[in-house]
Amino acid sequence: MTTVGILGGGQLARMLALSGAPLGLRLLVMDTADDACAGQFAPLLVGDYRDEAALAEFAGKVDVATFDFENVPAESARWLADRIPVFPNPGALALTQDRLAEKTLFRELGIPVPDFADVATRADLETAVAHIGTPCILKTRRLGYDGKGQFRIKSPADLDAAWTALGAQASSVGLILEGFVAFQRELSVVAVRGRDGEFRAWPLTENWHVDGVLSASLAPARVDTALQATAMAHAQAIAERLDYVGVFALELFCRDGELLANELAPRVHNSGHWTIEGAETSQFQNHLRAVLGLPLGDTSVRGMACMLNWIGTMPEAAPVLSVAGGHWHDYGKQSRDGRKVGHATLRADGAERLAVRLADVGEALGRQAQVAPVVARLRETPSSE
Ligand code: AMP
Repeated sequence: MTTVGILGGGQLARMLALSGAPLGLRLLVMDTADDACAGQFAPLLVGDYRDEAALAEFAGKVDVATFDFENVPAESARWLADRIPVFPNPGALALTQDRLAEKTLFRELGIPVPDFADVATRADLETAVAHIGTPCILKTRRLGYDGKGQFRIKSPADLDAAWTALGAQASSVGLILEGFVAFQRELSVVAVRGRDGEFRAWPLTENWHVDGVLSASLAPARVDTALQATAMAHAQAIAERLDYVGVFALELFCRDGELLANELAPRVHNSGHWTIEGAETSQFQNHLRAVLGLPLGDTSVRGMACMLNWIGTMPEAAPVLSVAGGHWHDYGKQSRDGRKVGHATLRADGAERLAVRLADVGEALGRQAQVAPVVARLRETPSSE
């Protein structure tokens, strides 16, 4: 029996474990926390990712290793890769841990990106703001996620506040200044590349964020085929350049019909959770197939799907469970402010039917504001129903 090791034991590892069961896989999850929620479904090894003894124990028990979060130290991934197969490869992981390296690669591949500049000192920040203009965003190069480690500079008067907030991190994790993109939509491509180089992608997903955290996703995004094709080509070019194996997500801004690449997540992604019920093969199952060298599954969709994230606390399940096409995911985590504790996916065969189900669920849960932009998008163009 094959054992897949996962570094990181959060909800992504948990959903990987659930989707691995029908393949007859064993899993071993490693996390620093003994209550990591994937541990409810897979054996959990508690240890520090930098501890060689813990890594050696992990390596001795698994046939192949992968990740559920991108901030696993790249040196630990390299240490493991000298002993067992690791996918995606540690080089790809390291590149995506650095916003500057990532954007430089996108630019090299001819993929449009927001203006950006490396910021090492306060003087660099002034030069970069003068060059890029305001509004702009100062971000940490490494270890930022869900909008953390970011400061929005609305005018040059905010420079002091930006440097006070993040300047101390210039020498540790590095800083990057990015032009603020006045986008109309945020989109993502969730894609998978196999060990033999086969590439497949799910249709583009539209995403809505609140305070930098994903709130809702709609798939397939209501975009034209040309935009869809461009996004797929960008994702494939990146995957090939990195010799990437497994699932990843490319986050994009769409401004006036142009796609700008924001970042690449080297793992299964929150904007792909809808694939569990909304696609023939989920991102979780395809990630496992890819890292094991198995044939990749069909990524075609079943109708339309909307995923709603539950942040902080779980709402009442009944309104989702009782609606046709409603699916519930509780990650088994303790409630905590800002924490992703679960999600729901609503599925329907057409746009108007999905809009009605979403509006009903939003009303029943008192979450009208969360569903409103998705309902509006679904009703923008006449549906074929
Ligand atoms: P990130 O951690 O880079 O994915 O940023 C979190 C969220 O902040 C994104 O999903 C956007 O909503 C917003 N954001 C980040 N970078 C930019 C940018 N350059 N222009 C406009 N919005 C941005």
